[in-house]
Amino acid sequence: MRNWTVGPPPSMRNVIIIGSGCAGNTAAVYAARANLKPVVAAGHEPGGQLSLTTLVENFPGFPQGINGPDLVENMKLQAQNFGAEYILGSVTAVDFSKRPFRVAIDGDWHETRTVIVASGASARWIGLPNEQKLIGHGVSSCATCDGFFYRGRPVMVIGGGDTAMEEANFLTRFATHVLLVHRRDQFRASKIMLDRIRNNPKIEMIVNTVVEDVHDPDKGVVTGVTLKNVVTGEKTLREVDGFFVAIGHIPNTKALAGHLELDADGYVVSHGGARTSVSGVFHAGDVQDRVYRQAITAAGAGCMAAIEAEKYLEAEGH
Ligand code: NAP
Repeated sequence: MRNWTVGPPPSMRNVIIIGSGCAGNTAAVYAARANLKPVVAAGHEPGGQLSLTTLVENFPGFPQGINGPDLVENMKLQAQNFGAEYILGSVTAVDFSKRPFRVAIDGDWHETRTVIVASGASARWIGLPNEQKLIGHGVSSCATCDGFFYRGRPVMVIGGGDTAMEEANFLTRFATHVLLVHRRDQFRASKIMLDRIRNNPKIEMIVNTVVEDVHDPDKGVVTGVTLKNVVTGEKTLREVDGFFVAIGHIPNTKALAGHLELDADGYVVSHGGARTSVSGVFHAGDVQDRVYRQAITAAGAGCMAAIEAEKYLEAEGH
């Protein structure tokens, strides 16, 4: 018999959800609707990667598309309507060594029976002077999300790994011309992906080249990119409308290291379904997923994690 309908003691939570992107918010909707009264540690930049995008056209249910920030805000409101509590703060430390688990949000410790880790992965940015100013206005970290907007226009992709190859290839469906810029002449990308790029007539590969800056924040859109050849020192200005940064992601798991099994790159290791190496701690979204990384897959993963947390609590008699 579940007894959480009367609510847990204020100091003891049923579930703390770390992260308020698509995965965390969806987990919150499901957990709140199951009357678990979840607490969401929203982070200092709530909303995850969707809060950095503009129009999202591939989230089912919105025939005209929906703005990324609106989509995550709606999810949050939906979760709050069912009783989810949001705390604007980052998880600074955890203790999963014994039950109840303990989670510090901005230094304040909270006790909880279960945890859903949905802290996401942040796109790695180059750190150019104008880069952040133009995110959502031509600067993007996701070709699947934003490629469609560049139909009939030239774009640039930065990176030499599989993601950059995949994004460059994908973008040729829409763009007139794709400039693929890499800082070395050796690639991390797999041979098959590289061959695909080399055989694609729409892609121009530029190696041994770094980006000096992307323009033009004064116009509010991307108009071009200044490149510098690291061998000759020559600088060139290339006119493009889209600038896709594909130089990897960083999972947001700093506070979890040593408390949960992480792989060599810091992603949470799945132990089947939404389970992690610690019984009662579940994962959802990009913090574990380095393949799909979509809003809809993160939302699905959030749902799975909440259902697993609910079953776990039920089995324990809570
Ligand atoms: P990655 O393999 O780590 O490659 C990152 C690339 O970005 C490297 O070429 C790196 O250059 C470059 N880079 C890093 N920092 C940079 C900076 N500040 N300025 C300019 N360039 C910079 O990352 P990924 O491509 O995202 O792939 C991650 C993992 O997912 C890999 O294991 C990959 O195989 C896998 N993946 C697989 C598929 C697939 O099989 N379909 C698709 C996507 C990803 P350097 O080489 O000079 O360091």
